[in-house]
Amino acid sequence: MESRPAVRVLSSEEILAQKALEIPFLQAPDLRTVFAERAMRMRQLAAQSSLGEFLRFLAVLAQAQHELAQHYPQLPLIDEAEAARLQRVAGVPFVAAQWYRDPVWRQKLLELGERCALHAPAALRDAIGGLRARSHTWIEAQADLLLTGSQRGLDLALAPLIGAALQLHFTALLAQWEAASQAQPALRGAIGRTLLEGHCPACASPPTASITLAIGPSAGHRYLHCSLCNARWHMPRNKCAHCFRTDDLRYEALELADAGQDPREEAESTAVGRRPAVLAEACGHCLHYLKIMHTDRDPFVDPLADDLYSLSLDLLLGEEGFERYGNNLMLHLARPEDP
Ligand SMILES: [Zn+2]
Ligand SMILES: [Zn+2]
Repeated sequence: MESRPAVRVLSSEEILAQKALEIPFLQAPDLRTVFAERAMRMRQLAAQSSLGEFLRFLAVLAQAQHELAQHYPQLPLIDEAEAARLQRVAGVPFVAAQWYRDPVWRQKLLELGERCALHAPAALRDAIGGLRARSHTWIEAQADLLLTGSQRGLDLALAPLIGAALQLHFTALLAQWEAASQAQPALRGAIGRTLLEGHCPACASPPTASITLAIGPSAGHRYLHCSLCNARWHMPRNKCAHCFRTDDLRYEALELADAGQDPREEAESTAVGRRPAVLAEACGHCLHYLKIMHTDRDPFVDPLADDLYSLSLDLLLGEEGFERYGNNLMLHLARPEDP
């Protein structure tokens, strides 16, 4: 009788550890789909949210980002030696807040404004009207405030539009970087793991949220989604994205009825046992939280759109003494004092 080698069954932890080595650490955005899918999600959520008008405007804005992304001009990329030097200094190839911004981004800002002005909230529509009269220095200073997370002196009405133009620019830059790195592996190597773990390995911005993937080689794994360049990078599940501790995490979700849904839908979804796709991962050590979104529960979740849709969850966590980790460049208009 033929002898068979002994088969050792791997534990689920071993399987996950092995798989973690195989999965891509960084997922660069696909310019053909990233903004179009966001626009679709915004429209979907707008139909069932108390923030409907704002989300409908953001759908138009994301659609305009998508259209401009299809023909974004080629941006200057640094050479391999400079990439290596920057990585040694900063741990990332381009730190958005310090990176040279090609003036083309301001042209795209004006074009974004023109494409969405008709649908903008009144305060933003007026601000878009005055945008051409603004100096380059003023616009660049606004961009610096957004990229460094500073609110002092920030024009709150224009912030979502300027944020959208910066997202478009840096997403195109990363996509071009990714394409160039196919021929120049050293560029690819510059996007490494020697970074501030909770920040984007491409541009050093904070994430908007994290997302668990359901299909492809990364299925079952969690990625953090960059608030600026739309990169996703792997971070193991059950780990605080702010202090990286793993031993005092809890997960909170809204009752589905509180998430802005039609109560009739809520009754139906409860009947089929649907679990919430968006939760807050809250850490008892550093008292920060980041939202986690599960694509196996809802394949269409978008970190930016679903973050806005679940603002009630932020209120809940705030009441419990938790501070939000993560950034959403569209959040400025969602403040109560804004129209
Ligand atoms: Zn980034
Ligand atoms: Zn923590």
